[in-house]
Amino acid sequence: MNTSEKSRKVLIVGGVAGGAGVAARLRRNDEQAQIILFEKGEYISYANCGLPYYVGNVIKEKSDLLLQTKKGFSQRFNVDIRLKNEVLSIDTAAKTVTVVDYDSGKTYRESYDKLVLSPGASPIRPHLPGADMSHVFTLRTIPDTLRIREFIEAKHPKTAVIIGGGFIGVEMAENLHEQDIEVSIVEAVDHLIGAIDIDMSYDLHNHVRAKGVHLYLNQLAQTITDNEVVLASGLVVKADLVLLSIGVSPETEFIKTSGIALGARGQIIVNERLETSAPDVYALGDAIGVRTFTGHEDAIIPLAAPANKQARLVADLICGIPRKYNGTQGTAIAKVFDMTVAVTGESEKSLKRLGKSYLKAYTYSNSHAAYYPGAVPMFIKLLFAPDNGKILGAQITGYETVDKRIDVIATAIRAGMTVYDLEELELSYAPPYSSAKDPVNMVAYVAENILSKKTTPFYLEDLLALPANALLLDTRTSGEYEHGTIPGAVNIPLDSLRDRLAEIPTDKEIYITCQIGLRGYVAEQLLKGYGYRTHNLLGGYRHFQAKETDLSSQKKTTAVHNS
Ligand code: FAD
Repeated sequence: MNTSEKSRKVLIVGGVAGGAGVAARLRRNDEQAQIILFEKGEYISYANCGLPYYVGNVIKEKSDLLLQTKKGFSQRFNVDIRLKNEVLSIDTAAKTVTVVDYDSGKTYRESYDKLVLSPGASPIRPHLPGADMSHVFTLRTIPDTLRIREFIEAKHPKTAVIIGGGFIGVEMAENLHEQDIEVSIVEAVDHLIGAIDIDMSYDLHNHVRAKGVHLYLNQLAQTITDNEVVLASGLVVKADLVLLSIGVSPETEFIKTSGIALGARGQIIVNERLETSAPDVYALGDAIGVRTFTGHEDAIIPLAAPANKQARLVADLICGIPRKYNGTQGTAIAKVFDMTVAVTGESEKSLKRLGKSYLKAYTYSNSHAAYYPGAVPMFIKLLFAPDNGKILGAQITGYETVDKRIDVIATAIRAGMTVYDLEELELSYAPPYSSAKDPVNMVAYVAENILSKKTTPFYLEDLLALPANALLLDTRTSGEYEHGTIPGAVNIPLDSLRDRLAEIPTDKEIYITCQIGLRGYVAEQLLKGYGYRTHNLLGGYRHFQAKETDLSSQKKTTAVHNS
């Protein structure tokens, strides 16, 4: 910019992921701009994603959470940072904001050329009796985290209830458990981590329970007392500490009087240039509604990576660099004890909600070559379009290298790739790292087999209503079969199938299962060669068993309490 021109004055509301990101990039773009950043809290640019690990003492020093201090940030970027300054309202006609400075108690106005809103989203506090008691917490900020840690150190709670089993809820379950606290999660719907589908949650539930965490699924918390949470079902769960973690809501109350357009859930409406309905006002982060890849408008997807990307974009747009926000695909990952749960793009339930048609493939693959020590399985679900094979979404649960596989698929979605492209991806391979057919290639092969009708899959939900003329055929070894099978299945091991064809009626539809779906596929092709009409259970007995274990544990939880 020509220094003789008047420098632009940019106000930023919110000083963490989005706001601090805009300020830093803006300064790198424009040395002359006057930048003022308002943050109502005491800290800027801290690692909110790391907060659960500070509670769990994995991150030991508070200072490690502070990515930047006011002094360091303002020195490096020459930004006027005003902590404990809350923006109360915006006058878009006069182009001013009204601010209260909590240290002086004074209220003042500040004018802007450009205004950036990154106020984030705050935890929803349900109106439960007892929710305002001193042992009930939410987790968003450093002070929230300190309060929880101080409470643990002072009161030594033996039991904790986490109300809400989303990403933050399960991360906190692990971290409280690591503090020798007996943890229960109360979740209103039928599975943890709402971003995944229920069929991807069975292994997760079993793992969390195996670690000693109690799960109360399909249960509503009704009342909080000194040391218990009473559920609407009548169950009573011990709780010396309660964490409310039922989701977040855009923190946009202060915007309501400004006339800036908000969505039904308070999210700020923005266009692809992240402009709000008011001139020269931009918004980003958890507070905005975003377009998803399948065209869902104004979705609230509160994640750090999109907020950071949007920050860069807003700073560029303010400086006249043409940029466009192409939507959020919701790639997310969480460590849940020894497991990793990851998701990208649409889920089956979101596709159903949107009325979009889709197909799905499942695979169990090893994290690396089975013969190299330490290989562990991962379960992948891939969703794709029936007409052209375009990848719509994926979910993975496992123990090792889940992050790598979800990121490959996330990249493929971003690039608009299809199942056929995914098959062709040439991914790095040596036995300690992968297999010559990477798990991502494998799930694409299954998807391609479905699209080309080489295989006719069926799924756990179909077992509930198989046609009357179905024969359920378990193709595992007799030893495996004797250890457990899907009720009603007859056993003919794959390797004796050709010799025992006479036992398989030709007038029936053959529904084949095996351990994970691989031998079943081989059996399917074999039987098709003899004219049979076949279907193969993707995920096989392994998936069935995970579901059964999960459901029977759920029943036991209720039964223990009722007895
Ligand atoms: P924030 O980072 O929340 O910043 C908004 C700031 O604006 C706040 O500090 C607030 O005090 C301030 N503010 C609000 N209103 C005003 C006002 N009127 N005046 C002045 N200041 C105001 N995402 C991931 O992708 N991965 C993770 O692992 C992950 N873990 C998380 C764990 C926790 C415990 C939490 C709370 C969040 C986690 N997130 C994670 C989400 C991620 O932190 C957010 O998506 C991201 O911080 C959003 O950035 P933002 O700028 O929109 O909002």
